[in-house]
Amino acid sequence: MVGAACALYAARAGLDVTVVDRGPVAGGTTGAGEGNLLVSDKEPGPELDLAQLSGRLWEELAGEYGEIFEYEAKGGVVVASTSDGLAALERFAEGQRAAGVVADKVTGGGLYDLEPHLAPGLPGGVHYPQDSQVMPALAAAHLLKASGARLLTGRTVTDVLRTADGEVRGVRTDRGDLHAPAVVNAAGTWGAELAARAGTSLPVLPRRGFVLVTEPLPRLVRHKVYAADYVADVASDSAALQTSPVVEGTAAGPILIGASRERVGFDRTFSLAAVRALAAGATGLFPFLAGVHALRSYVGFRPYMPDHLPAIGPDPRVPGLFHACGHEGAGIGLATGTGHLIAQALTAKTPDLDLAPFRPDRFPEEAA
Ligand SMILES: Cc1cc2nc3c(=O)[nH]c(=O)nc-3n(C[C@H](O)[C@H](O)[C@H](O)COP(=O)(O)OP(=O)(O)OC[C@H]3O[C@@H](n4cnc5c(N)ncnc54)[C@H](O)[C@@H]3O)c2cc1C
Repeated sequence: MVGAACALYAARAGLDVTVVDRGPVAGGTTGAGEGNLLVSDKEPGPELDLAQLSGRLWEELAGEYGEIFEYEAKGGVVVASTSDGLAALERFAEGQRAAGVVADKVTGGGLYDLEPHLAPGLPGGVHYPQDSQVMPALAAAHLLKASGARLLTGRTVTDVLRTADGEVRGVRTDRGDLHAPAVVNAAGTWGAELAARAGTSLPVLPRRGFVLVTEPLPRLVRHKVYAADYVADVASDSAALQTSPVVEGTAAGPILIGASRERVGFDRTFSLAAVRALAAGATGLFPFLAGVHALRSYVGFRPYMPDHLPAIGPDPRVPGLFHACGHEGAGIGLATGTGHLIAQALTAKTPDLDLAPFRPDRFPEEAA
C-alpha cells in the first residue's frame, strides 16, 4: 500500500517510476490486515498530523476511485466500559479536538442510536466521524494502476547499487539491475533488510496480529467500534500478547474482529490464545456475536518501529535513498500522506509536514 501510494504521487509529480516487489501486489502486510483509516486512535503529534493529511488525500482519491476500493466514510465509535474509562477517553478526545479532530462525546442512549446491538449498560463513548475504511488490496492495486508506473512483480531486490562515492544508482534484483538516481524503501516489515542492503540501518520489527472473520451477516455493526483500551495497546512497547476488541462490519457482510498485537518474530503459527481473546472481547462489546460462526482467521506482521512512528524521507547516510516504511498498524491509513511527502522529497519541494520526527536516522545505531 505504501509503495503504491509513493508510486502514485511520484508519478503525478512527473517522475518516471518503477515498482519492484518480490511477491504479487498486496502480498505483504497490506493483504493481511484491515483497512481502517483512523484519526481516533492517535494522540496529537506527528502521527496525527500525518493521519489528517492522509485522510484528506484519501478523501480526494475516493472522489476518483472510492467505489473501486470500497471507500466507506463510516466513522468510528470508541466505547468506554466504566465511568472512569469514559472520563479518560473524554480527556484524550479533548486533546484531539484541539488538534482539529472531530470527536463527539456520546452518552446513554446516544451510543445505542449509533450502534443498537452494543452490550447494554455501557456508560458512553466518543464518535469520530472522520474515521473511514478502504479495502487495502483493492486500494493498492488501483493506486498502482492509476499511477501508470512500471510494475515488476515476482522480482526480489537483492542489493542497492551505489557509486564509489556511496550515492544510490539503482537496485540489483534476482532478474537484473535497474538503474535510477533515487530508490524508495517501501518494503514494510522487511524495511530493515532493504536498508541493510543499502549499507545503512533501520530498526523495523514484525508485530504479529490476528484477525477473526465471521460468516456474512446483515449490517449489524455500522461503525468501526472498539474499546477504549485499544489506544493503550497500540501505544504499548510490550512484546507480550495484547488484545483489545475492534469490531467492524464490511460491505461484503463478514464482521472483522481484531486486533491482537505481539512481538514473536515472523511466526505464522495459529494462536488459539490470541483468537480466543479476540472473540471474548468482541462478544463482550456485541453479545449477538456469541451466536455467530467464525469462518476463518488470518495473520499479518505489522512493521513496528521502537517509537511507533514510520521512517519517511531521505536517508542522510546514503544519498539517493529514501524510506517509506515502518507504519506499524496504520500503514493503510497513513499511506497517502506518506506517498505525497515522499514525492515532495524526491522533487526537492518543501514537504507539507515537517519530516524531522520521521527521520530514518533518528535511532541510535545499536538499536538497528
Ligand atoms: C492484523 C492487522 C490489522 C491491521 N489493520 C490495519 C488497519 O485497520 N488500518 C491500517 O492503516 N493499517 C492496518 N494494519 C497495518 C497495515 O496493514 C500495514 O501498516 C501496511 O500494510 C504496511 O504497508 P507497506 O506497503 O508498508 O508494507 P507491505 O504491504 O508489507 O509491502 C511491502 C512489500 O515489500 C515487498 N518486499 C519486501 N522485501 C522485498 C525485497 N527484498 N524485494 C522486493 N520486494 C520486497 C513485499 O513483498 C511487500 O509486498 C494492520 C496490520 C495487521 C497485521
